[in-house]
Amino acid sequence: MTKKIAILGGGIAGLSAAWALEKARRSGQDVQFTLYEAAGRLGGVIGSETIDGCVIEGGPDSFLTEKPAAAQLCRELGIGDQLLGSNDAERKTYILVGKRLIPLPDGLMFMVPTKLLPTAFTPLFSWSTKLRMAREFLFPPAPATADESVADMTRRHFGQETVDRLVSPLLSGVYGGDASQLSVRAVLPRMVQMEHKHRSLSRAMLAARKAARVPHPGSSKSSTPAQASSGARVGSSLFTTLRGGMSQMVEAIAAQLPAGSVHLSTQVHAIGRNERSSRAGVAPSLPWTVETGFGQESFDALILALPAWGSASLLRLIDHPLAEALSGVPYSSSITVTLGYDRAQLAALPPGFGFLVPATEQRAMLACTFVHAKFAGRVPEDKGLLRCFLGGSGNDALLDETDARLTVMVLRELESILGVNARPQFVRIHRSRQAMAQYGVGHLERIRLVRDRIAALPGLALAGNAYQGIGVPDCIRTGQDAAESVLRSLQTESIPAPAR
Ligand SMILES: Cc1cc2nc3c(=O)[nH]c(=O)nc-3n(C[C@H](O)[C@H](O)[C@H](O)COP(=O)(O)OP(=O)(O)OC[C@H]3O[C@@H](n4cnc5c(N)ncnc54)[C@H](O)[C@@H]3O)c2cc1C
Repeated sequence: MTKKIAILGGGIAGLSAAWALEKARRSGQDVQFTLYEAAGRLGGVIGSETIDGCVIEGGPDSFLTEKPAAAQLCRELGIGDQLLGSNDAERKTYILVGKRLIPLPDGLMFMVPTKLLPTAFTPLFSWSTKLRMAREFLFPPAPATADESVADMTRRHFGQETVDRLVSPLLSGVYGGDASQLSVRAVLPRMVQMEHKHRSLSRAMLAARKAARVPHPGSSKSSTPAQASSGARVGSSLFTTLRGGMSQMVEAIAAQLPAGSVHLSTQVHAIGRNERSSRAGVAPSLPWTVETGFGQESFDALILALPAWGSASLLRLIDHPLAEALSGVPYSSSITVTLGYDRAQLAALPPGFGFLVPATEQRAMLACTFVHAKFAGRVPEDKGLLRCFLGGSGNDALLDETDARLTVMVLRELESILGVNARPQFVRIHRSRQAMAQYGVGHLERIRLVRDRIAALPGLALAGNAYQGIGVPDCIRTGQDAAESVLRSLQTESIPAPAR
């Protein structure tokens, strides 16, 4: 009999699950799926539009090239020719200190200095921090025995100034994270391994550099903005995007899904679990139900591709401890303000991809990307595009500001930081409320508990950015894994029990 699967959430995780199920269906598996999306469009936080020839991203603008899932997916969908690498020759990121934009010194691998001269001469750090960095090489601290925050690990090795001027802005700039809350084991697992092996992170990085390929300080499991500015990757482009915008990926998946399989503007209010009836004469019911404003439907399996807080509220009556664990995953919100200019109006901009603003600077802006410099061909030659990030952990109040107030705030800061006082030709503002999962200290234990509880609920799978990485490729992988997991559980279920 045809197996019915529901996917809740049409962000990139839910869409990746849908595409994996569609491939299974085309290869002959007897499955049918329905995707429910609360909004009137697919993509979740991914949303691109083009104004005056400029590609504008409301959410992610690219993904890390070293994580293959996203590019592979694009090739599979026939849009491989749209993939575009970042313009790494221009890659330079600045940190705002006072009124000065100071470039990140060469050789910095996230928070670990690996080149003597650039570190010695950078005005980014005081002499006492530089001495501390040198001392770390010879007299590193003892490895931590338990999970700790990224800030704590950095402080133990390189001192508070490295937290304030480097690690905090790197983590908050684009992903709205708080270094004093984020788990080093979840966000930078490679650093933890390196510390255990070499004690000194500088020594570990140098040893790794000597080996053929420079590793990324996180693992393949987590995505942080660390790489964005660390220069942690050599060879091909650090970032990859799509020429017409990240939404191309969303549109390409949507175009492959069977007619009628996607229900937009359909929020799922409740899910339920039926005990299967084995009594003679009672028709066996499907184990899962989904309730929307349009009625109730039954399914063999469910994929919840929602923010963890959304899955938690649906699961509360089904598995309370699971719901509690999920609701404990914190989320941050963000705002992007994208401003379009004539390129001539931005002549004063320094070369590079943009700048990050440490919290100690006490500004509204967390980061600014010089979009026209990051990718070739997504902004016409005579135009310039600045994308500013605001919000982040603990700054949700900014989301309630009007567009006019946010624009004024950003224009004032751009003038004082970059000296840009020209009137932009257009401004686009995007708010992403509670969209970015934050992997706090203890995240890995929390996710282990979630996995154990899910294993006891056959036919249920989770996907999205709360589990194994918040980047687009990570979310794609969770969607694909969720599809595989429900298909496996349905297959096991349909194998008849051996005759006694
Ligand atoms: C501003 C911003 C910039 C980013 N930049 C990058 C970047 O450059 N590179 C990168 O790799 N990653 C980036 N990320 C992270 C990455 O984009 C996200 O982690 C990822 O897209 C999340 O996908 P998702 O499918 O898990 O969730 P979402 O995109 O949040 O999708 C969840 C969907 O579920 C729907 N939904 C919720 N509740 C219900 C319900 N009850 N019923 C039905 N539907 C429901 C929502 O409407 C939504 O469409 C960025 C994120 C943001 C917000």
